[in-house]
Parts: sequence; structure tokens; C-alpha cells
Amino acid sequence: MLKPGGTVDSWCGTCKLILAHTIEAMVGDKPARVHCNTCQAQHSYKPNKPGTSARSGKPRPTKYQTLLNGKDMAHAKRYSTKDKYEPGDILDHPSFGVGVATAVKDGTKVEVTFEGGVKLLIHGR
Ligand SMILES: [Zn+2]
Repeated sequence: MLKPGGTVDSWCGTCKLILAHTIEAMVGDKPARVHCNTCQAQHSYKPNKPGTSARSGKPRPTKYQTLLNGKDMAHAKRYSTKDKYEPGDILDHPSFGVGVATAVKDGTKVEVTFEGGVKLLIHGR
């Protein structure tokens, strides 16, 4: 059982290693505050090396960034309701900016992913 004064392995941000730490405070059955037995630094309990979880580290590219990856922005078509778009087409919308057509919904609507989100635009009119 973990308890204050006990020892637990935690990530130490000072030593940059998983090291033995002494538990200073618990929240429920989890250590909340610990101090490093090696460098004595006090910090919150971190069971894993930072960057290994989805929440921290380098932000993952958004769907928009992934879609635009490798595409030539210079070839963006100026959006017009009269044009027809295919998935993968890059278009330049006067208010939403540059987007990538991701799906054709029916003959008159195309789903376009913009930096600000997915929009359904009219096309092929
Ligand atoms: Zn340390």
C-alpha cells in the first residue's frame, strides 16, 4: 500500500529520470506530492515520463494540417458555387480561408475542412 512517507517510482523533472521518490501527500489511493530521493526536489507525482501521454509533449497535427500536408496551397481554387469539387481539392474561400474538400455530400454540397472546422458548402450550381 502506498502511504505518505513511503516510496514510489515517479518521474523527476530535475533528474529527467524515473526515480524512487518519497510520498509527501496522497489524494485517495494515489500519491499527489512527492520528493525525489536523489535531488530532493518536491513536485507532483508523475507516474510516466512527460511526452508519453497524448496530453503533453508536441501537439499532434490537426486533421486540417494533415490534409494540407504535401498539398500545394498555390493551387487553391477560388471557391465558387458554380464550380464542382472533388475530395482532395484545395479551395480558397473568401471568409473561411483555404480548405480541403473532404467529402461530396450530394450533387450540390461538398464538405470542406478549414482551419476553423468543417463546413458544408454549396457547389455545382
Ligand atoms: Zn530528482
